[in-house]
Amino acid sequence: MTDSPASASLSQAALRGLACRCPRCGEGRLYAGFLTLRPSCDVCGLDYAFIDAGDGPAVFIIMIAGFIVVGAALVVEMKY
Ligand SMILES: [Zn+2]
Repeated sequence: MTDSPASASLSQAALRGLACRCPRCGEGRLYAGFLTLRPSCDVCGLDYAFIDAGDGPAVFIIMIAGFIVVGAALVVEMKY
C-alpha cells in the first residue's frame, strides 16, 4: 500500500491499526513487543507518540486474563 497520509480514510487507518500496522502506510509494524509501541514507523517514519495509549492496553489484557483466571478458579471450586 503506497497511500499518502491524506488518502488514508478513518476506516482504512482503523483497519491497519487492528492489523498491528502503521495507520498511515499500512506496512510498518506498530508494536515492538507484545504491548510495547514502537517510537515511529520504520517504513514511512510516522511518529507514534500521538497514539500512545499509556497503560490502557495493559489494563485491558489484565481484565481479560483476570476474567479467565477467576472463571477457571470458580469452575475448579465447584467441581472439586
Ligand atoms: Zn508507516
